Amino acid sequence: MKVSELPYRRVTLEEIQAVMEDVIPRIQNAKSVEEILAAREDYLKIMLEFATNASLASMRYTINTVDPFYVAENEYYDEIGPVVDNYDVAYASALLDSPFRAELEKALSPVLFQSMEVQRKSMSDEIIEDMVEENKVVREYSDLMAAMEFDWHGEKLPRAMLMKYAKDADRATRKECFDVLGRGLEEHKKELDDIFDRLVHIRDRMAKKMGYKDFIELGYYRMGRLCYDREKVANFRENVLKDIVPVVARLRTENAKRLGIEDYKFYDDGVIMPGGDPVPCSKDEIFAAAGEMYHAMGKETGDFIDLMLENEAFDVDSRKNKWGGGYCTEFAKYKQPFILANFNGTTGDVDVVTHEAGHALNAYLIADNRFALELGCGGMETAETHSMSMEFFAWPYMEKFFGKDAERYKFMHALESFSFIPYGTMVDAFQHIVYAQPDLTPDERNAEWLKLEKQFRPHISFEGMPYLEQGTRWQYQMHIYESPFYYIDYCLAQTAAFQFLLASRKDYDDAFARYLRLSRQGGEKVWTDLLKEAGFPSPFEPGALADLSENVEALLESIRV
Ligand SMILES: [Zn+2]
Repeated sequence: MKVSELPYRRVTLEEIQAVMEDVIPRIQNAKSVEEILAAREDYLKIMLEFATNASLASMRYTINTVDPFYVAENEYYDEIGPVVDNYDVAYASALLDSPFRAELEKALSPVLFQSMEVQRKSMSDEIIEDMVEENKVVREYSDLMAAMEFDWHGEKLPRAMLMKYAKDADRATRKECFDVLGRGLEEHKKELDDIFDRLVHIRDRMAKKMGYKDFIELGYYRMGRLCYDREKVANFRENVLKDIVPVVARLRTENAKRLGIEDYKFYDDGVIMPGGDPVPCSKDEIFAAAGEMYHAMGKETGDFIDLMLENEAFDVDSRKNKWGGGYCTEFAKYKQPFILANFNGTTGDVDVVTHEAGHALNAYLIADNRFALELGCGGMETAETHSMSMEFFAWPYMEKFFGKDAERYKFMHALESFSFIPYGTMVDAFQHIVYAQPDLTPDERNAEWLKLEKQFRPHISFEGMPYLEQGTRWQYQMHIYESPFYYIDYCLAQTAAFQFLLASRKDYDDAFARYLRLSRQGGEKVWTDLLKEAGFPSPFEPGALADLSENVEALLESIRV
């Protein structure tokens, strides 16, 4: 069925309440494992209805943000969200505390129980008010950033429009872009510092109320992490510093010379290719190419892209009243993934049919999994492994998208992705410092950021850049305000994606089969186990990134155009 024709109905709180107030006591008072498993089936039934319809409402709102019907539906789900979450934790608790727990873990999945354990550790009645306050302050930040306007030659531009010039081929234009950005942010310095300071203290307070040492611990639970903790992330950080940072610094400095730049400045960081970024083919050509590509990859991926195209599961045209971002979601009951994007004629358009489609393919592959509703695609690091690896599996087909620019695209894509790892790891390191010492002053926080810049991006100078030279680059990295500890997942996934890229250049079919196997398991296995099964080392082990880094550097040397 076409996505536009999928039937929608509101799933009410009363309906959910009725099921949960039946299911939870049935689990608590069960005399056998079978009784509990039967109760779980009823839970899954209502959750499937809820997830599917809430996702439909949200999608229909994003394709037309002024549609009064779906605006109201979304508001309704926002409103009942915390109550539903609470029921969810109560349901999880009933299973976790069941005297039949050991048998249940065997009948279901130990990972499911691990995940419910972490879910329970991330929530408590005593912090509900703090959570509401946190959301409010996060909203203050996103409203502030959305309303911010920057003076560009007498024109007032929102940040997204201004940042187009950050990639301009003309160096003076890039410099001017960042001067304008810095001065614009500086006008809001007080609010940006104050909002962040409040967020840090609210989060620290929540963690302490729940008996944790600091917010780092709670932050990891909120991310639902099952296979790594802060010590492992510290190892990863060391690996990045030791084995990736020097290589990226060398590659980027050499690359800058190709662009005629001897003194690498922060405003040079957005350009890689002499002559500007490669330009992809038109929208219709992109979809035709994607169809051919997924069919060439295999039967399963061919069926997947046919389902997406036949059911019109892509909405990629920019238009008035459409939400400006991009995402991939699914309507679980109908086993239908969906992708929203706003094509703008850049390489980002191709990402929609590689990266986002990697997420969608995963949703398609796991649609019939036993724990699809509860464990989904796995943690964020696993989800991004699905998508970032697909970007690389698409490489042999890049001529279809970029014509004679295909080789330039590959070089740029790999160097950009590799350079991202030190940056992302630094964003994560900064948050560890901030939440370990919540009472740092704004100036002290900026000083910490500058120290990290010197460690993680030693090739970049901020000297002479208004405001940004004070160590404030983090203030427009929205994850730092909005989604604490989210960022490292991208870095972890990026290392896995590079492993798949290197493997695919040795034996594409074998690497792709390993990728499909990993994706097909969704969240039923934890990420480090999935990697092991795919034949890759855990990036948390000391020295684990040395070979990877050496091989990526050699690859980049060999494909430089
Ligand atoms: Zn993604």
